[in-house]
Parts: sequence; structure tokens; C-alpha cells
Amino acid sequence: MKAPISLAVMSVTGAIGMLFCTVASAQSNNTAAAQPDQPQGLEERFLDTSADPCVNFFQYACGNFAKYHPIPSDRSGYGTGTMVFEHNEYVLHTMLDNAAAGGAQRTSNQQKIGDYYAACMDTAAIDRKNLRPFQAELDRIAALKDKRELTALLGHYQLINVNAFLGLGEQQDFKEASKQIAVTDQGGLGLPERDYYFRSGDAAEKTRKQYVEHITNTLRLIGESDSEAESDAHSIFQLETALAKDSMDVTSRREPKNVYHLMAVEDLQKLTPRLDWARFLSESEFPSVTEINVTNPGFFKTLNSLLDSTDLKTIKAYLRWQLMASADSTALPKALDDEMFDFTRHKLRGQPEQQPRWKRCVQATDGALGEALGQVYAAQEFPPSSKAATLQMVHDIENAMGQDLDALDWMSPETKLRAKAKLHAIADKIGYPDQWRDYSKLLVQRDDPYGNAERAAIFENLRQIAKIGKPVDRHEWGMSPPTVNAYYSPSMNDINFPAGILQPPFYDPKSADAENYGHIGGIIGHELTHGFDDQGRQFDGNGNLSDWWTADDGKKFEEKADCTVKEYSNFVAVDDAKVNGKLTLGENTADNGGLRLAFIAFLADAKRKNIDLDQKQDGFTPIQQFFLGHGQSWCGSTRPEQLRLQVQTDPHSPREFRVNGVVQNMPEFGRAFGCKTGQPMMPQNACRVW
Ligand SMILES: [Zn+2]
Repeated sequence: MKAPISLAVMSVTGAIGMLFCTVASAQSNNTAAAQPDQPQGLEERFLDTSADPCVNFFQYACGNFAKYHPIPSDRSGYGTGTMVFEHNEYVLHTMLDNAAAGGAQRTSNQQKIGDYYAACMDTAAIDRKNLRPFQAELDRIAALKDKRELTALLGHYQLINVNAFLGLGEQQDFKEASKQIAVTDQGGLGLPERDYYFRSGDAAEKTRKQYVEHITNTLRLIGESDSEAESDAHSIFQLETALAKDSMDVTSRREPKNVYHLMAVEDLQKLTPRLDWARFLSESEFPSVTEINVTNPGFFKTLNSLLDSTDLKTIKAYLRWQLMASADSTALPKALDDEMFDFTRHKLRGQPEQQPRWKRCVQATDGALGEALGQVYAAQEFPPSSKAATLQMVHDIENAMGQDLDALDWMSPETKLRAKAKLHAIADKIGYPDQWRDYSKLLVQRDDPYGNAERAAIFENLRQIAKIGKPVDRHEWGMSPPTVNAYYSPSMNDINFPAGILQPPFYDPKSADAENYGHIGGIIGHELTHGFDDQGRQFDGNGNLSDWWTADDGKKFEEKADCTVKEYSNFVAVDDAKVNGKLTLGENTADNGGLRLAFIAFLADAKRKNIDLDQKQDGFTPIQQFFLGHGQSWCGSTRPEQLRLQVQTDPHSPREFRVNGVVQNMPEFGRAFGCKTGQPMMPQNACRVW
């Protein structure tokens, strides 16, 4: 349940406004790891000076990036964030090789991360065991005699991250953030998103055909005959399509009230008589609860009738498929691993080759033991001076938001006061947690990669479940320290910047202040603005979903946001696939507001330091350096398949529009580069919310 539910809860709660899409877990075979190229502050060689910054600033700031860094064959895209990610991956790899080398003097955490990694790397042993690690689960499915026995099995599945039919997890109560409650969510789909089952057009039809072939191949690899696998795959696809029919799409799920229906468990029992909820919860090791957030009641009604009408043979085939598709791919024998790669990474994302094994195992270890690994990483890579400097910048940008609120001409004094109260209540979390997670109860064995992954999943799920009914831990982190990402949580009302993103070029102690404000300043401003985007603004300073806006101010906000929706909806990502302005509204609002806040903070800092804003350094004025810093945060290119997937599932706009969409809304940019009103980067009508 952890992986899917924390995902669900994040997009459900919009709890996590991520800056990057998680960089794909990709893979290939062992190639020697060369120290990757680490980018420095502003890279002049990436500039395309033949381009006009007033026509296409992304091209100007990043046009030569791909000459130095074409997309490698083991990736679906490559950019500034990937470079930082690869640097961190290299550092973690060295750490894990040392920990894996063993020795009696290893600490408990070193034993765990070293043996987890070593077990993952031992592909010969994984192939020798073949399907044996899955046999007990497959036997359990085969032994099902009656649909009534399903409840217990589905409960067990929640613990090992198999979200067949539905998901179960915990969240902070939207309306009472100090309370932690159970949540159950729609689930059970194998395609990336609900609309994949229904969208028309050649690309969508091709994907569905490939998906059915992928299910067929998987079932064949676990022992079904060709004809049986083919017929099961069609039944499974029909069942998933029926589940998808009343599943909520990714855009609707961004609206908090759409995914919040707190219900008495006995009412949920009436809604879905086919599932024994008391049994389901106890098999998932939940404490006894009387209420639960049912994200999408309509889905559960449909689920109940599908459990009624679907024959046991189809259900069993579906469970076999879900079990295999949910498994940690690094624990799969080669043929199955290759099949999973072929559909999920190659066909869906255009990635030509699997990543080297060591990269996949570094990521798997970070996923399972992130704070054990992160403790060593943070000590080595994130000096106290970086922590102090970035914290100072966070404070500067929070002050900038206070000034920005004061200056807004459309908001009433009443709402401004409440916005400021929320701003002052935001907690800043920088680098790594104050208290580290205790993994002593998690058993890691050097010869048991499948068992390690399963035990890590159960360990994490039990940790999540244990929160229900307890006070909220305000020190908890939702990302590991090496993560190249950041987030805002509306229920916690906190902004979180792992050490992994506070690295060059985003934050470079050797760079000009202007560049750092454009890079990491924009990112800090982005997370802060999430507290005030279309989702975040619905939560108050205590993290509760409650409307603190006057009706008139709320209406004005929506009109301004609508300008952003229309602006981004016109951007074409690839062929016929455009950016979804509604799905990306929160992220676009955060990108635009974030850079404006960073700009205000940068000007204040320059004034404090008596910096001459007209004096060029290395060919650029400080204001130009600021915008170039922002532009170069998003350098890179993306394969067309990945771009299509991104605009259909990801609330973040493609990199080009994260640059151009923002600067074209800032007349300060046009002035700095001498653009004329009416040029693409300096349109007549700019959009501005914050
Ligand atoms: Zn974001």
C-alpha cells in the first residue's frame, strides 16, 4: 500500500507538490561507473547565442545543452536535474560498494544498506531462484475456492504493495490535520492513468494493444500456455477497463473535496457488501478504526458489483497479473524483468535500454532504506555552511512573499491578513531530518533480494499504519536526503528541501548570488507558492481544509488562475498532445509565483550588498544572470513517448514551458533583455496570480 497510497494521498491531498517528476528508475548491465560531469552554476557553453532570448528564452539558455549531454540510451530524458541525480547516484554507489564489502566492524545500518545492495546486485542468484520466491503467493491464489476468501488475500496484498482492486493507507484528516486516519482509494489499474483505457486516437489504441500483449507475455512467463495467457489477458483488460470507468481521472483528483469523503466503516460496509471490511482491515494489520476516508465512493459501488459479476477464474488471473506487475523489478528473474522493462520503460517512455544494474540497485536501496543511506550521504555531501546559507535564502524568500502580499492590488486587507498568518505558520525543513528513522527491526539478508524487498515494504507500511490515532510527527520527512526534489505538504504546512537538491548548479556556494537566486531561489519560491496555489490555498495555516478567503477574493483568484490555465493549454508538447492547463495549474502557479518571489528576494539582497544592477559580469547584468539561472535549471531534452506520458499524467509542465511560460509573464525579464512588447517572451497580456 505504501507506494500506491502515498502516491494517491499525495495527489489526493495534493499533499506533495513535487518539483520534478521522480527521475525514472531505469536500468542495463554492469558498466564501470565513471564520475559523471557535475554542472557548475551558470554554464556558458549551454547557451545558444544565435537564438533571440525575446523569441524563445529556453532555446537561448539551453539550446546547446544536448550537444554536450544528449539523452543516454538508458534514459527517457536528460536534463539539469538528471545531472545532479547522477552525481548523487555516483556518491551513493561508492558508499554502497564500501558497505557491501562487509567486515565485522560494520554498524547495523551499514550491514543493512550493504547487504540490501549486494543481494540486489546478485543477478545470478536471482535467476537461479527463478519463480521460487513468488511460489507461495501464486499457490495462495490457486487455492482460492470462493470469492468470499478474497478479502483476506486482498488485505495481505496491501501489506506487500499489491494494489489489486483497491488501495489502503493513512493520511492526515483534511479537515482536522492533527488527526491521522485511514484512507481507502481506487486502485487495481495497470496502465498509468484512468484515461488510458478510454482515450481515442492511434497512439492510445496502440498503447492498449501493447498493454494486452504485455499481460499475455507476463502470464506466459509464469507458466500459462499461449492460448490461456492470451484469453486471460483479454479478460483482465476488460476487468481493468470496468474498474477504470468509475475511477477518477488525474485532473479531478487534484481537487481536495473530490477525494475526501469521511465515512463510518459500517457505512462503507453497506456500500460494498462483497468485502468484509473488518477482516480486510485486520489482515492489513490496521488498528481498529470506526471511520475512514473513502476517496471515491462511486468507484467502490462499481467495485462491489464487479466482484459480484466477475467469475473466479478471471479474478485469479487478474491477481496473478497484479502480483507480478507490482513486484520490485530488481527482484524478478531476467525474462520477467526484461518484459516489464519492455512495456513500462521502452514502449511507454521511449527508453531504448535498461539502466546498468548498479544504478537500479542504488535506487532500490534508497527506496527501502533511504534514511540509513541518507544519514551517511548528508554528513558527507551537505556541510553546515550549505545548510545555513540555504536556510537564510528560505527566510529571505518568505520575507519576499510578505512584501508581495502587501503589494497585491486585487486582494482585500482581510484575506491578506489570513494569508500572512498562513505564511508565518509554514515550517521550513532543510537537508535532512533531525531524528533518523530506526531500521533495527527490519531484517536484511545478503542472499534474499525478494525477501528484503518484501520485508522493507511491510516495514514501511506498518510504520505508516502505526500513525493512525497518534499525534502528528512534525519532524517526519516524505523524501530521503539524497533525493533531487522538494515538496510542500498542505496538511503539514511545511516546505521540505532534501540535501540532494541543494547541490550545484541549483545551489552552488561558488556562484554569483544572482545565479543562486535564479536556480535554488526559484525552487524555494516554487514550494512556498504551493501553499497558495489552487489546491494549497484551500488549506489554512494549521493544515486544515477550510475556506479563509472572502468570496470576492476567491473569485478574483479563480479569474487570475484561469488566465494561466488558458496560457498553458496552448503549449504543444508533442504532435497532437498539448499541455493540460488544468492538470498543471498548481505547478505552473508555483513556477510563476516562485520565480517572482525569488526575484523580489534577489533585489533586496543586491540592495543590501550594494550591487550595481547595470554592471555586467562575464557579459551579463545580475538581472540577466538571475533569469539565466532559472532557465538553466530546466535545460535538457525528453523523448517524445515520455513527453506524451508526461502531459497525460504529470502535473508538471514540460521543461521548455517551465522556462518560457514563466518569463513571458514577467515584464522584468523583457526589460532585462531589451525585448519589445508583442514579442513572444513579452506578450501584451501577461498572466499573474501572485
Ligand atoms: Zn511543485
